[in-house]
Amino acid sequence: MRIASSFGYIRSQQFIEIRVVHFSSYQNLRKSLLDREISCEAAVLEYLERIRENQHRNVYITVFNDGALERARELDRKLEAGLSPGRLFGLPMAIKDNLSVKGSPLTCASGILSNYTAVYNATAVERLLAEDAVFLGKVNMDEFAMGSSNENSAFGPVPNPYDESRVPGGSSGGSAAAVAGDLAMVALGSDTGGSVRQPAGFCNVVGLKPTYGRISRYGLVAFGSSFDQIGVLSKNCDDAALVLNVIAGKDEADTTSSHHAVPDYAREMDTVSIKGLKIGIPKEYFPESLDQGVASVVRNRLDELQEAGAELVAITLPESDYAIAAYYILTTAEASSNLARFDGARYGYRSADAEDLGHMYVNSRTEGFGSEVQRRIMLGTYVLSAGYYDTYYKKAQQVRRVFLNRYQEALNKVDIIAGPTSPFPPFGIGDKMDDPLEMYLADVFTVPASIAGMPAISVPAGFDGSGLPVGLQLIGDFFDEGKLLGVARKIQKMQKG
Ligand code: GLN
Repeated sequence: MRIASSFGYIRSQQFIEIRVVHFSSYQNLRKSLLDREISCEAAVLEYLERIRENQHRNVYITVFNDGALERARELDRKLEAGLSPGRLFGLPMAIKDNLSVKGSPLTCASGILSNYTAVYNATAVERLLAEDAVFLGKVNMDEFAMGSSNENSAFGPVPNPYDESRVPGGSSGGSAAAVAGDLAMVALGSDTGGSVRQPAGFCNVVGLKPTYGRISRYGLVAFGSSFDQIGVLSKNCDDAALVLNVIAGKDEADTTSSHHAVPDYAREMDTVSIKGLKIGIPKEYFPESLDQGVASVVRNRLDELQEAGAELVAITLPESDYAIAAYYILTTAEASSNLARFDGARYGYRSADAEDLGHMYVNSRTEGFGSEVQRRIMLGTYVLSAGYYDTYYKKAQQVRRVFLNRYQEALNKVDIIAGPTSPFPPFGIGDKMDDPLEMYLADVFTVPASIAGMPAISVPAGFDGSGLPVGLQLIGDFFDEGKLLGVARKIQKMQKG
């Protein structure tokens, strides 16, 4: 008899091999867990085994080998004792390494936090644990979530699961690669200007950035606080809806979290109909420079939506050209202030080379931060400095207001806005590292929803001629997550036939 050591579960003395990664959704895994066809321990062991086999992909910064197993066994005992399982019972998850998980390393993929251990749980983390999710570990990212390729990580790059010579996108590159490569069933990421949606698009998974304030930011290391939002990456919309339901909602620890009631997203999704749905197609999202492969995949999906009864409405968002400029002024300004706390005195790395306090600050920050983070701190300090504040920061705030108005006007006329998630498919590792402006352009379509604070989702749309994944982005009005998930689910279903 084989021993059910790593895969499977012994039932009636018979070994049943169940490959957990083959479950198409959490609902299916949940059924097998609750029917005791498979134990939590076996499910988690399988994922840990895959993570070990794929160590060279560099997806995880920290793997909770013992912690995850211990927790899985605890959940198995809970079920045996007849206690009722939480809504996410046994869901194997990856957490981006800028979210606090108490007692575990929290690095933000930065040298400056390389020796830091989180002292409390983020609210989202706490809510997931309360519903019996299992954390497999903390995943790779661009340092402090600044980047679009996961290459700005002190722990090194992550290959795209669809083509190892290419990037998985960023900054939540580890989260997207984990879900796409079956190294976690669902992952949490964070999105300041596209960091959930763009990597989701590059890795052929669903990536939802909710409305600003929908999920508490307590325990999410701040980058651009008025933009930052936790997001969910998963293979399908049902899993994203379920996790969003668990983590969304008011939190006293974050004053910017919304009081807006949290609906049942699964039910909202079910009410969505493509027939009669007005989809706004901004001409600025289909510029001449748009990659041909990306354009044709996205157009095919839009044509199918039209055939299914949707009305495609041509719209224009003329200020789109200013999105990247406004975004990089506002977020670097906020980052320069937020990152002031990493000074060698209070958190993490302290330079050994320090004659006095001033040198200690300078050397700790110079040695601890990577070059992109340093660039942004300098840019942010500059735009906030006396004499330049009105010219840059104030102006960008005004542009932000114009964006908000324009997107609201558009969403008064149409139900949702659609276009590509990224102007190009996943690019080669190293290709854009010498040209920060080129890299910033990766977010040209994702940044507007972040400026406006509106929810947006990237849904897998198919593959270009070279077999690279293409994401389609849907943007909705405030708190329209249910509608976005519902339309995205239809788009996924259409492709499956
Ligand atoms: N790529 C964008 C940036 O570098 C977005 C990052 C993010 O959303 N965290 O700022």
